[in-house]
Amino acid sequence: MEGASGDTSIALRAEIRDWVESYCLGGPKRLPHVLQFASLFMIAVFAMPLLELKQLRKDYGGLRALDGVTLDVTEGAIIGLIGPNGSGKSTLIDLVAGSIAPTAGQIIFAGDQIGGLGADEVFQRGIARGYQQPTLYFKMTALDNLLLPPKSQLGERPWHAPWHKRWADQEAEYAQRALYALQQVELLPHYDKLAADLSGGQMKLLEIARALMGEPRLLLLDEPTAGVAPLLARDIFQRIARLRDQQGITFLIVEHRLDILFDFVDEVYALHLGELIAQGAPADVAGDRLLQQVYFGD
Ligand code: ADP
Ligand code: MG
Repeated sequence: MEGASGDTSIALRAEIRDWVESYCLGGPKRLPHVLQFASLFMIAVFAMPLLELKQLRKDYGGLRALDGVTLDVTEGAIIGLIGPNGSGKSTLIDLVAGSIAPTAGQIIFAGDQIGGLGADEVFQRGIARGYQQPTLYFKMTALDNLLLPPKSQLGERPWHAPWHKRWADQEAEYAQRALYALQQVELLPHYDKLAADLSGGQMKLLEIARALMGEPRLLLLDEPTAGVAPLLARDIFQRIARLRDQQGITFLIVEHRLDILFDFVDEVYALHLGELIAQGAPADVAGDRLLQQVYFGD
């Protein structure tokens, strides 16, 4: 379990559970009532999941792409989302990212209901994403791909543009941030290459670097290793684990390569026909009968 070694959030949750059992739920060391109440209140605030989906549903006309999905994502965790083609994985990512609106149910991020907010607003709140098919500016350099997306750039405003001094500092700051993001995914040596000249794996990494420009708390990745050679695929996951360990970024990752995914995630959710059919630690989910049936038909 390479990536799961820094799994403080999940371990913390287990510790909190033990603590509540012995100090608040009639255990041998039970505290006075007022302290029990205060402790439970603090725990509820601090142990709140970063992302909660409650009975989330998405219909496309008569087709129910997602059917009452309820799940939690703990801050600092790497969570895998798996399931056969058409099971609703990309729909779930699109809903959380604000690209589409739910038909019913709730999306709660850092305690706020964000279901139905637009993608820009969701991004401002700290959720960034990568796409199943990289959506890059292929005729621009890697660095320029990162410099284009930030909004409210002073140099783009007609009344500021002629005055270099007004926007030079901001431009320098964005350039610093972009170079740092490239360094974090180890793409810095390729900063002046056209995106079109990068390998499939490097394009995926560039998408991750672009997402980092928004300094996200939650990063949604849809098949970050699709079309990538096996060795680089593992390498991409190692870089993801490092981002989690060093910066505490939380990841929700759709991935088909279960052998690689299961080595890095703390928890897995499995979808089939829009419904959750399994969830838990990778080792438990891997042995789930229903999941084996829908994946391998045995
Ligand atoms: P996955 O990513 O797991 O392969 P999707 O979330 O892309 O699955 O799709 C789930 C279901 O929703 C599929 O049956 C798919 O055909 C359908 N679907 C996805 N997007 C749309 C859309 N924009 N319009 C109509 N149906 C859609
Ligand atoms: Mg998909």
